[in-house]
Amino acid sequence: MQKYSRKYNQVQRHWFLFFLLIILNLTPCALAEPAHDYGALPLIDARADYQGAIADRVGYLVEQGEMLSVDEVQSLIRADPAVLKRPESGVLANGINSDAIWLVANVSNPTEDAILRRVSVGTGWLERVDFFFITEGLLPQRFVSGDSIALAHRSIAKRIPSADYLFPPGETRLLLRVETADPMVVPLYFSSIAVNHSREQSEAIFFSFAYGVMFALSAYNLMLFAGLRKRRYLFYSLYTATFVIVTASYNGVGMALLWPDAVGWQQWAPPLFMLCFVSSGLAFATSFLKTRRHRPRLHKTIQTIGVAYFTLFGACFALDKQGLALQLAFLVVPVFTALMLYMGVSSWMGGNQSARYFMLGTLASVVGAFVTALTVAGVITYSQPGYYALDIGMVVDAMLLMLALADLARKNKEARVAAERTAQIDLLTGLNNRRGFLPVAESLWSLATRKDSNVCVAMIDIDHFKSINDQYGHAVGDRVLKKIADELDNSRRKGDILARWGGEEFTLLLPETDEAETLTVAERFRHNIEQLVVNDGGRMIRCTISVGVASRHAQDVTLEHAISRADEELYQAKIQGRNQISTGRTSDAA
Ligand code: GH3
Ligand code: MG
Ligand code: MG
Repeated sequence: MQKYSRKYNQVQRHWFLFFLLIILNLTPCALAEPAHDYGALPLIDARADYQGAIADRVGYLVEQGEMLSVDEVQSLIRADPAVLKRPESGVLANGINSDAIWLVANVSNPTEDAILRRVSVGTGWLERVDFFFITEGLLPQRFVSGDSIALAHRSIAKRIPSADYLFPPGETRLLLRVETADPMVVPLYFSSIAVNHSREQSEAIFFSFAYGVMFALSAYNLMLFAGLRKRRYLFYSLYTATFVIVTASYNGVGMALLWPDAVGWQQWAPPLFMLCFVSSGLAFATSFLKTRRHRPRLHKTIQTIGVAYFTLFGACFALDKQGLALQLAFLVVPVFTALMLYMGVSSWMGGNQSARYFMLGTLASVVGAFVTALTVAGVITYSQPGYYALDIGMVVDAMLLMLALADLARKNKEARVAAERTAQIDLLTGLNNRRGFLPVAESLWSLATRKDSNVCVAMIDIDHFKSINDQYGHAVGDRVLKKIADELDNSRRKGDILARWGGEEFTLLLPETDEAETLTVAERFRHNIEQLVVNDGGRMIRCTISVGVASRHAQDVTLEHAISRADEELYQAKIQGRNQISTGRTSDAA
């Protein structure tokens, strides 16, 4: 009989798990110790509709060396029933790279009628599964499935190896030979077709949810890329999409839905998609964490790894060395995972807050992979959530990465707002500049116009400031200017808007203030500046200011007009001798 193994083993298809199994030193995971008091196997009742996987009614033996025939297995059991071991708990799991395994169960149909039942094994990546149904007095029935067989040629054209059998009255021995180099996880299901369908349905719901979330994130980020032209969104979109494609290609969803007959392609799809997954993950990480700028050497290393990976994969493809391509993927993926974690941690430690989501996300997928690895290895009791922890972890990862992107976008926005704010502030004095002043002043002005209320503008100019520069130097001039600005700022009332208009000139807007009140305020300014002494290494520097005031008149339609009138008044104050305040009141009255 021919051995149904593929040309190359498929260990690497389950790269992540394999890697983790190695670090955990679990390979090949020891099976449960054989129960020494083995008696007859508890019977499977053909009438029963078992909802979950049945492990307690199943015995198994590992095929060592030569491939066994059904007759040989039967006579081995007859000679010594203790050759059959029992899975200790949950589900039969024998790690990766396991020898072929024979599962044995006895089904009893105590009724007068035949009962139709579906037997399936629940794992999509098993290479070859042979089902044998042996009923006394009947010819043995055989069905074949597994992912090395085109969908249409499987016993039932499904992702999960399954077979239907009409169990006649009496006892039927069920033998399953399972062969795979991938993790040997064989949850055996025995149920009606309806129950089998509902299990498939809940799996389909899980896949739809997990893949749906990933594809939605992928599509959304593709749109963000189209709109914002930031490459990190494109890489993130590819990263999430390729994860789905990698998992779908190894768990058989891809073959079941997309390439039912392409047995050869099924060999190449996982390593090829893994290459895409790893490259887009690294591209995303480097552009998100800006390694080119912040960690140039790390960036170079990653680039080199990427180029080497592509080149070697290309060579494998050209030489049709699919096994080598898988070995390569198996080598790169743990490096990739370690790099992602390292980049996340070091960027976070370096003060990049957005990197913490990145790091937590990567951690989620690593933990998920661990749990799946332990479940597949049989270390943790088999459960669906444990089995799918990798996928769940990856969904969490993808969502946290989304959060990281959102966090980054928020940071960018805050930086932009801060930059805009800075553009409205005068750097020397810390007061508003014109850009900061005008929008606020304009709106207060039009409010006053609408309500026909008082509002005044004052223009303030330091007297003979040029001579201070000439006498003490520009740096001292700057200090004096800053001191005066501070003094003006402290002297102004809350609600009055002060700005550096340019040079040594300031402007003040006084809402809800009539001209008389404005004169009082201006006088306080003048007085305070006159009293101000700037000590420059023992030299006492004093200054005065001149102020021009304009109030909103009927003819002052605009703020601009009022400012220019205040400027004219300032000029009057200057020619009248400085250190004084001028207002148009007298001339208006005239
Ligand atoms: P007046 O009483 O007529 O206003 O005389 P002034 O010397 O103050 O007026 P003028 O407009 O002739 O000169 C203004 C001076 O203020 C000239 C300029 O060098 C100085 N100045 C303007 N901005 C700054 C600044 O930011 N720092 C320093 N140190 N000096 C400044
Ligand atoms: Mg001046
Ligand atoms: Mg001036």
